[in-house]
Amino acid sequence: MKINQVVIIGSGTMGSGIAAQLCNANIPVTLLDLKTEISEKARDRIYKSRPPLLIDKSKIKNINVGNINDDFKIVKDADWVVEAVVERIDIKHNIYEKIFKSRKSGAIVSSNTSSIPIKILSEKLTNEEKKDFCITHFFNPVRYMGLLEIVKTENNDLEKINSLKKFCEQELGKGAIVCNDTPGFLGNRVGVYSMQVAMTEAFKMKLTIEEADAIFGRPMGIPKTGVFGLYDLIGIDLMADVLKSFIKELPKNDEFQTVAKEIPLVTKLIDTGYTGRKGKGGFYRINKENNKKILEAVNLETGEYSTSKKIDLKIDNVDLNSLINQDDRYGKYAWSVISKIIKYASSLVPEITDKFNDIDEAMRLGFNWSMGPFEMLKSIGVKNFFKRIDSFENNKFLESLSKSLDENFYGQRQLYTEIETLGKIKTTATKIDKNKSAEIYRFKDFNIIEFTTKACALDYDSMDALKNATDKPLIIINETMQFSAGVNLTYTMNFADKGDFKSIENFLKHFQETCKHLKYSNYPVISAPSGLTLGGGFEVLVHSNFVASHTNIVIGLVETIVGLIPAGGGCKEMLWRWSQTEEAKQDPDYAALKVFDIIGYAKTATSPIEAEPLKYLRPEDKTIMNRNSLFSVSKKIIEENNNFTPPAECVFNLSGKSVKEKMIKTLEKLYNEKVILDHGMEVGKELANVLSGGDTTIDKKLSEDDLFKLELDAFMRLMETQKTQERIKHTLATGKPLVN
Ligand code: NAD
Repeated sequence: MKINQVVIIGSGTMGSGIAAQLCNANIPVTLLDLKTEISEKARDRIYKSRPPLLIDKSKIKNINVGNINDDFKIVKDADWVVEAVVERIDIKHNIYEKIFKSRKSGAIVSSNTSSIPIKILSEKLTNEEKKDFCITHFFNPVRYMGLLEIVKTENNDLEKINSLKKFCEQELGKGAIVCNDTPGFLGNRVGVYSMQVAMTEAFKMKLTIEEADAIFGRPMGIPKTGVFGLYDLIGIDLMADVLKSFIKELPKNDEFQTVAKEIPLVTKLIDTGYTGRKGKGGFYRINKENNKKILEAVNLETGEYSTSKKIDLKIDNVDLNSLINQDDRYGKYAWSVISKIIKYASSLVPEITDKFNDIDEAMRLGFNWSMGPFEMLKSIGVKNFFKRIDSFENNKFLESLSKSLDENFYGQRQLYTEIETLGKIKTTATKIDKNKSAEIYRFKDFNIIEFTTKACALDYDSMDALKNATDKPLIIINETMQFSAGVNLTYTMNFADKGDFKSIENFLKHFQETCKHLKYSNYPVISAPSGLTLGGGFEVLVHSNFVASHTNIVIGLVETIVGLIPAGGGCKEMLWRWSQTEEAKQDPDYAALKVFDIIGYAKTATSPIEAEPLKYLRPEDKTIMNRNSLFSVSKKIIEENNNFTPPAECVFNLSGKSVKEKMIKTLEKLYNEKVILDHGMEVGKELANVLSGGDTTIDKKLSEDDLFKLELDAFMRLMETQKTQERIKHTLATGKPLVN
């Protein structure tokens, strides 16, 4: 079965998200809604979306729009028809009747429903029609959420389901998990249960919402929105509807029912318009006092709002055992929530699914948890878990595990896919080294480095690991979301606060040496980025010999935002890339001015297609839709480069003073227009000094080391200024830039 053309009916949040991802894959798609204006607006929304749903604006040409009355005939050309209209069974039934009358014989028809079982959706279909009907449950936002649940029944043509799965994996880049027709499928069944447990336990144990979010968040490997923050994000009213549907669909004795009961405070919030971020606020709200925005949090007992108190548990790494062993309310809350989630998820095996691994993957892909309930169990330790747990009657999975006490029950990750993923091979690879910032694995005859810090931020230890791993071909790749958000600014600021600038300089030198080492190592180095690839993260990438990039990256040199300049060879490599262009051959200042513009404005790209014109990526770098494939593509690059020879060293001819003056003219214009302020000017001048080659003339040859030295000196001068330190502190505290 080949899918060359798709029709989507319903152009709301989900219909447009699915359409955008099909566009990204260059599959022509038609969006039909009640009126053409509605689908036109949807196309417009896709075009302007932030973060962008499209990997490149030009992809919009793959979308056609229309309405279900005048344009329905297009359905007969589609190989796949996706229904994504409102969650109303009468409306859905009417649409299926129309689709099955018009569709091409054998075309797949699917619904994006989040809660209606197939048996109800398909009750009016013939047996022949049921063969081709399934649920394709995408998550919002479709481009960025990895999970796609394909729900099938015994009526389905399994071969067709499998080829749909392959298409969604390969072309749309989704982690496609085939599951059975049970309420909430896998992701929402366990995900919504977990949120409800986290919420009801917070009420019971009298935790504040900030405390609950601080625990049911990063320390548990769960996104920092926690539980109450996530409710606000999804919409408290929408969650109430989801719960109603679960209460209706699930048996009365299902454990879910005990945590799905209506909570008076939640009802009050909805009734008074506090439906979350889209409403007047929710559990959190923004209040304005004297024109200042103040974040407030609701008191779970009184329902009153007061200024939110930030709770920082100072836990950066997920360590469930030390969390649940904490001898205070936080430890008790964590254990209570985690143990209930493990008990519930395992109670679904084997009735709901016989593959517990799929439940974990659904939580990782659909809720961005770093581990699912079964991996949590593994991480707590099987014996340890059974020592603590009170009861688990009628739970076949736990009964059996309590007998075997097999600490190795888990096996590999990602069993739902045939792709050889990093998660899978890590269990058979040998961990040859580890420090607090990275792990080195040996697999076959090459090394793999995985960064292990928060957002994979880089420090001295990350560089040590990289340097030590170049004795074999090397792949730099992470299972977690980001490739690297850049140098760890907290780490750098800790030295600056003590006035210890020597340590910062030593770190930078080590960074530069490591990057050089990566570039000129006798073995190929491959970076396989996904997510944030910023600043120092980009500098690691740019010194790699090959790149296999996921389509969802945010890439660029953003140092100027925090009052610094790239000093890990970022300026140098960008200069080199731009100096290889035809334009640079005509104009000796072309490259320096171009890079000044890119780094000065801290330009970022949100996909490889956007990255190429900036030369953050090169045409020969590989682009991959499915994040799961980053490892196997990188491995193939190693196999194809048996006879690798490192590149020749670069030599630079830069104009020095004359081009620097041009850059300073640009800065003065920006300063006069108040686009930049005093410190912006200082940072710009330092950047100009590096990119012009400093005290040089066009006939002089500068080596890579000369440029490294210029970068280092500029960086250190800026680092020592009060205003750069203020910028860094501000960004660390707020996540936002400070203009000074
Ligand atoms: P939405 O309200 O954003 O969009 C629904 C669209 O369907 C609207 O544009 C509406 O005009 C259109 N529509 C209504 N009746 C129609 C008809 N007869 N013919 C053609 N179009 C019609 O809804 P949504 O959030 O995109 O949800 C769509 C489906 O996806 C629902 O089944 C929902 O349960 C499911 N879902 C939603 C999410 C989510 O996060 N929003 C996630 C997963 C699944």
